Amino acid sequence: VTRIGVLTSGGDSPGMNAAVRAVVRTGLFHGLEVYGIMRGYSGMVEDDIFKMESRSVANIIQRGGTVLKTARCKEFFEYEGRKKAYENLKKRGINGLVVIGGDGSFNGALKFSQEFDIPCIGLPGTIDKDIAGTDFTIGFDTAVNTAVEAIDKIRDTADAHDRLFIIEVMGRDAGYIALHSGIATGAEHILIPERKTDIDAVVSSLQEKEKRKKLVNLIVVAEGDEFGGGEEVAKHVKAKLPNVDTRVCILGHIQRGGSPTCLDRLIASRMGYHAVESLMTNRYNVMVGIQNNKMHYTPLENAVKAKQKINEEWMKIVKILAS
Ligand code: ADP
Repeated sequence: VTRIGVLTSGGDSPGMNAAVRAVVRTGLFHGLEVYGIMRGYSGMVEDDIFKMESRSVANIIQRGGTVLKTARCKEFFEYEGRKKAYENLKKRGINGLVVIGGDGSFNGALKFSQEFDIPCIGLPGTIDKDIAGTDFTIGFDTAVNTAVEAIDKIRDTADAHDRLFIIEVMGRDAGYIALHSGIATGAEHILIPERKTDIDAVVSSLQEKEKRKKLVNLIVVAEGDEFGGGEEVAKHVKAKLPNVDTRVCILGHIQRGGSPTCLDRLIASRMGYHAVESLMTNRYNVMVGIQNNKMHYTPLENAVKAKQKINEEWMKIVKILAS
């Protein structure tokens, strides 16, 4: 490998910039030429590619979003699009690619690497922490801390008015943001896609709390909980408990933005460094992850969306601590 390309693809996540910086600087350290590819696979197809220097990634480690921009790219689903992308890499002599994104982006990289002679490395960039083969994904820690900060604020106003707040956080398939932020803010109930939502049990527990005048309650709901997210839960609860002052708050996209936490910057830097080291040692078509504090390499075909098991103990802790 002598020239590598780096891109960010799919849903954005805080810490992607720190990963890009690490890839660029590690590549330059090894004497490689490094090329930035704009807007994910779109830039590869449309030839929006530029040479990067050390200065290109100055002052970005602390910034949210991604300086390379990100996109979803329809053309890349088709062979023709991927071929165009390949030709654009080939004409610059780019012979290695680092893709920072989610499982969709890894699927794209897998197809691409099977069809053309470009070794690829994936780095898990997603706030949902729902990728097999890694304990950490770039962006999760920031997203969950943003949720905690927001929920703390909601608790203040809930407390002032004796209100029940139903707060929806991101997580269409994975409940980690809800679980972690809910535990960290002392939520009374946490509803996640990995568990059946027993709405009747939630209602009867709230009724019991109403009886003993515990009126400030927080329910944290992942958007993908089986009941259908915050609004649906609220509708049901309001119908069953008309006397409870109930409000809904959907945190939404604030969870994707903001300056990455120290942890996200660290794992992004470590993964970015190892992405290049892997290419240099001919370990490619893998996703670089971290498991038990060691680097862990998962073949791209196995780096799929995965619901990691939610430890039953956490659910028990939620119940006991929120009583
Ligand atoms: P994420 O990486 O966050 O999961 P997406 O699922 O939207 O995001 O995937 C990002 C991009 O990766 C897609 O827009 C497409 O360009 C490419 N991609 C995803 N799946 C495939 C596939 N099966 N074949 C080719 N390209 C794909």
